[in-house]
This record gives sequence, structure tokens and C-alpha cells, in this order.
Amino acid sequence: MELDPSRRTGEQLTDSARTAKEAVARMIEQPYVYRHKELAEPDWRRLPGWSAASSQEWESAQWQRAHCVKNIRQLRAVFGDGVDESFYADLERDQAERATMSMLVPPQMLNTMVPGLGPAEPGFTDALYADPVRRYMIPVFSDRRTDWPSHPYSSRDSLHEAEMWVVEGLTHRYPTKVLAEVLPTCPQYCGHCTRMDLVGNPTPVVDKHKFGMSRDDRLGAMIGYLKANPGVRDVVVSGGDVANLPWPRLEAFVADLLTIDSVRDIRLATKALMGLPQYWLTDEVRAGMERLARTARERDVSIAIHTHVNAAQSVTPLVARASKAMLETGIRDVRNQGVLLRGVNNSADALLDLCFALLDDAKIMPYYFYMCDMIPNAEHWRLGLGEAQQLQHQIMGYLPGFATPRMLCDVPYVGKRWVHQAARYDTERGISYWTKNYRTAVEADDRNALVREYEYHDPIYLLPESGQDWWRSKAAAESSAAPARVPVAVPAPA
Ligand code: SF4
Repeated sequence: MELDPSRRTGEQLTDSARTAKEAVARMIEQPYVYRHKELAEPDWRRLPGWSAASSQEWESAQWQRAHCVKNIRQLRAVFGDGVDESFYADLERDQAERATMSMLVPPQMLNTMVPGLGPAEPGFTDALYADPVRRYMIPVFSDRRTDWPSHPYSSRDSLHEAEMWVVEGLTHRYPTKVLAEVLPTCPQYCGHCTRMDLVGNPTPVVDKHKFGMSRDDRLGAMIGYLKANPGVRDVVVSGGDVANLPWPRLEAFVADLLTIDSVRDIRLATKALMGLPQYWLTDEVRAGMERLARTARERDVSIAIHTHVNAAQSVTPLVARASKAMLETGIRDVRNQGVLLRGVNNSADALLDLCFALLDDAKIMPYYFYMCDMIPNAEHWRLGLGEAQQLQHQIMGYLPGFATPRMLCDVPYVGKRWVHQAARYDTERGISYWTKNYRTAVEADDRNALVREYEYHDPIYLLPESGQDWWRSKAAAESSAAPARVPVAVPAPA
């Protein structure tokens, strides 16, 4: 019979206290242990170049933009003499021979690298090499694979977005949604950027595609297309990063979208919510977003911000403030689309730490983690499909269901697919096969589009020796027929 707790005797209370104690002692060991961690802004004054920067300067978007690190000379000026010369030589070689993105790192992001150590302290260079944010924002030559720096099937614009442009910069890949690339720049450049074909400045190994139309003509043509195509209800406004479009122009574009009856969802893509949160905290942007959110609510449209955070250490109090400021304007949500990258977040602990940091204090919804796309020189970052499937399994059950991110493979000519949706998976050759249930803009007359299998490829160095041999022979035969524009090493058998 259940005892009334108010009538328990001293002996019974002692028993229940003992039971509780035993329960704690017997606490089940779990692969991941959740602990709430207070967010902290690393002290930028530990970095010699910014030791005199005031809090007011640090929190100014203008100061942040003016002090972005764009080259090795500026990086040296920030770090002082603390970093080994070998690191800079490694970086210089990468920029000359491998980098597909030019360097652009806002102080906010640089300050989250090696957050607990000053450059003059012992071990800083090693910690910098190992740092997850450094590994994707400031890649060095020794990070990359030398056997297979690129997959033989890697390509610029690996998702064929430009092929699916219905007007310049407007990709119509899914039946009801479009991607509007409103500009080709960002306040920060990520080494693994999937739009390396278009976004950022040219590098010694990659020229960039240039838009032909003027910005206003392009944006006007996008609005015209959407008005003429009421089947599209969802518009991802991206680039680049919308934080680089002057606010009045962005506001005008979103306001135009809000006049189109068929548009029900608008997503603004900005990594700068994390890389340059100061921008999203400016009065101009907050007031403008409030105006847009009000109109959206009146018209029953959802506006959300989609950001891109890959490591827990990037979630600082300023990032949390910017996210909450945006939610306070009345928009529907702030969501995160990270990228799975080896050496950055390829463990369940790293992913769960990140998701809890986003969810607990920044109110950012963990949403997706994409597998890194098959762009050139990315093999050291990319995971195999099997690894992504395992990570999906490992993170299940810890986060609330609504905040458990899906691991996605963006399959060329198919679109985003959950990593467990492959129709077949040849683990010896690292080829997964995928099907789809809609036609893209380029397949209107393709009778086989919905029955064909589309391929995605794992990094070759992860394969068993027999699979690697198969790729070596294939790559050797194909490279003599069509040399690639960026270096693709065909390794000799081990
Ligand atoms: S913010 Fe996005 S678009 Fe810009 S460089 Fe990074 S991944 Fe590319």
C-alpha cells in the first residue's frame, strides 16, 4: 500500500533517504552526460592585436567589420609573436595551392579560437592547430589529405545550383521552394563553403563565377518569377550571407516577398548571427526586422533566421543576445544548419554539446547537420555516409525530439536526404545510391528522373584497400582524359 508521505515515520524517512542515495550511487552510466554550461565570451584582450579594444568597440558591428582578418599579415598582427613560423608557412602554402575560399574572419570568430589561452602562453600553436573553429575557418596545408585532397567526382557547384537557376541566382530545385542567392559575399568565409564556385574572392586555385545582371535587376527578376509561379510557397533568402546586403535593400526584398500571396515561409540565411552577432544587434536591423515580422504576422507568413554554427565554443553570450533579439522582433524561429566536418564536430559529444549550447541559452533550434559537399580539396573534412549514420544514431534520445537535428546528405540532382534514406550503399567503393520523388527545374522532360538512382561518394581513403584500388585505376584512366581545374592527386598504390 502507498504510504502518505506526511505520515512517514523517522525510520521510513531514513529508508527512503537511503534508497535515494543508492539510486544516485547506481546512476546509470551513459555515453553522453549532459551538463548545463554557462556561456562565456572569451577575453579578446588576451590577443595582442586587440588588447586595447574596449567593450564598446567589440560590440560595434562597424569595428568588427573594420578589423576582420583577411590575410596572414593581419593574422600575425592579432596573434603577435606567439605563433610558430611553421604555422604561417603551412597557411601560406594552403592559400597558394589548395584553398577554395579566401581568408575572412571577423574578430568575434577569431576570438573563439583557443578561447582559454593567450598566444604567448606555451602550447598555443598546438592548440591553434587542433582548434575546431580554426580547422574550418583558417585551413592549413597539413590539414588536408595528400593522397586524395579531392574526390575524383568533386566539382565546383557540386549541387548544380546554377544549372537550376530559373533567373540568375534563383535555384528552383524542389517543387514548392526556391533558393534566392541575393549576393555573392559574406562577412566571413568558411573554408568548406559549398558555394565556393560563386561566393567570395578568387583564390590562386579557384576563379569565382560572377553574376551578369545588376543586383537590382536580379532581385527584381526573382520577385517576378515568384509572382508568376504560385506553386512556390517557401523562399530561402541566402547568398552569400544576407548580413552583407545593406539592410534597406534586404528589407525591401523581403517586403516584396511578403506581398506575394503564395509565399508562406521566408528563411533568411546568415552565419553572421554567430560570426558577427553585433550586426544583428544594431538598432537599424532590429527595428527593420520588427517591421518585417509585424507584416509577416498580419499576412500569416513565417519568417525564420537560419544560421550556421559548427562548434559549441562559437556560441557566446553575444550570439545568444543576437538570437534572442531577433526572436523578440516577433519572427517565428532561429534555427541552426551546421555542417559535419572531421576535426570540428565529428563526435556525438561535440554535436550534443553544440546542440545544448544552442538550445539552452541562445534559443537557437538545432535543425540540420549537412554532410560536407563534394567540393574540391575537402576530403579531409568530409565524413563517409556510414559515419554520419552512426552519429545520427548516437545523438538520438538526448535532446527533445523537436530539437534533435537530422543528419543530411545533399545528393547532387536529388536534394537533401536523411542519411538513412539511401536506397543502396556499396561500402567497398563508398558509393551510396539515392532516389527521389520530384523533378528539378532541369528534368521537366526527363522520363527517368523519378526511377533513376543518383550517386553520392564517400572519401576514398576511408575505404577498404580493394575499394581504394578500384578508385585508383578509375581516377588514373579518367584524369588523362579530362584534367581537373583544381589539383586532384591520383595517389600511387601504398
Ligand atoms: S557563411 Fe555560408 S555562404 Fe558564406 S562562406 Fe560560409 S558556408 Fe559559404
